[in-house]
Amino acid sequence: MLTGIKAAIIGGDARQLEVIRKLAALNASLYLVGFDQLDHGFTGATKMDLDDLPLGELDALILPVNGSGPDGEIDTIFSNKKIKFTEEILQKTKPSCTVFSGITNPYLTKCTSNANKKHIKLFERDDVAIYNAIPTVEGTIMMVIQHTDFTIHQSNIMVLGFGRVGFSVARTFANLGANVSVGARRSEHIARITEMGFKPFYLDQLENEVESIDVCINTIPAPIITSNVISKMPSHTLIIDLASKPGGTDFRFAEKRGIKALLAPGLPGIVAPKTAGKIIANVLTQLLMDESN
Ligand code: NAP
Repeated sequence: MLTGIKAAIIGGDARQLEVIRKLAALNASLYLVGFDQLDHGFTGATKMDLDDLPLGELDALILPVNGSGPDGEIDTIFSNKKIKFTEEILQKTKPSCTVFSGITNPYLTKCTSNANKKHIKLFERDDVAIYNAIPTVEGTIMMVIQHTDFTIHQSNIMVLGFGRVGFSVARTFANLGANVSVGARRSEHIARITEMGFKPFYLDQLENEVESIDVCINTIPAPIITSNVISKMPSHTLIIDLASKPGGTDFRFAEKRGIKALLAPGLPGIVAPKTAGKIIANVLTQLLMDESN
C-alpha cells in the first residue's frame, strides 16, 4: 500500500489516468494539476491549480511522459489552462521529493539538477522500454498497413537499430511473413540477427542495402537515413521513423524525392493508452513502494 504517500500528478494524457487509478487504489494521497476537465473522480485524489499544491509535503512529483516542453510548459489533454513547471517549484519541495517523467529534456534536467532532486526517467529503464515496445510494434504495423498498398507478407522490410524496439519490430514483422533485414553496428547484434534468421548488415553498408526494400523502419535516434541513403531507395519505399524527435531521417530530402517518410512518435499512447498507462503505473507504484520502505 502507499498509505501516507503524497504525490502530485501534473498534466499528461490518457496514460496518466491509469497511474491515478493505480496510485489511488493503493491509498496514496493524490493532487491532480491540469485535470479540471476530467469528469471522472478518484477517491483520494483532489484536483487543484499548481499554485495550491502543498509542495513541502510531497513525496513525488509525477510529470507527463514527455516531461515538459523546452521551456517547462506541461502538456495536458484534460485542461485548457497553461501550466509551467519551474525550478522554483522544485526548490519548495522537501529534499526527499522525487520527480518522475518518461523522458527528459535539457530544461527539465537543469531544473532537477539545480534543485538537487532525484529524477527518475521511467523510459530509460529496460523493463519499461521492453514492455513499451509491444504497443510500439502494434502501432508500427498499423502505420505500415495504412500507408502501403501491398501486404507485409513477402515484402522487404528493413529495420535500423537492434535495441529494445528494433528487436521486437524485426521479430514481429518476420512473424507476419516479411523478408526482414536488420542494420546494426555491433558484431554481437549482427550475430543475434543472423541467429534469428534475418538478413544482417553493418550500418556503414546501409547505402548498399536499400535498393530493393519496400519499407524502412528506423529506431536509431541519430541522422542515419541520409540523402545518400534515400537516393538509393526505390521510389515506392515507405520510411517509418520511430526514433525520438527529430528522428533519424532527412525528411526534407525524402519529400523532395517523393518518398513517403513519417515520423511516428508516441505510438503506445496513441494505439494503446490504457496498456501504455498500465506499464507506467506498475513500475511507478513499485518505485514509490521501494522508496517508502
Ligand atoms: P535502444 O534500446 O537504446 O536501441 C537503440 C538502437 O539504436 C541500438 O541498436 C543502438 O545501437 C542504435 N544506435 C543508437 N545510436 C546510434 C548511432 N549513432 N549509430 C548507429 N546506431 C545507433 O532504444 P529503444 O528503446 O529501442 O528505442 C529506440 C528509439 O525509439 C528511441 O529514440 C526511443 O525514444 C524511440 N521510441 C519511440 C517510440 C514511438 O512510439 N515512436 C516508442 C518507444 C521508443 P548500439 O546498441 O550499438 O548502441
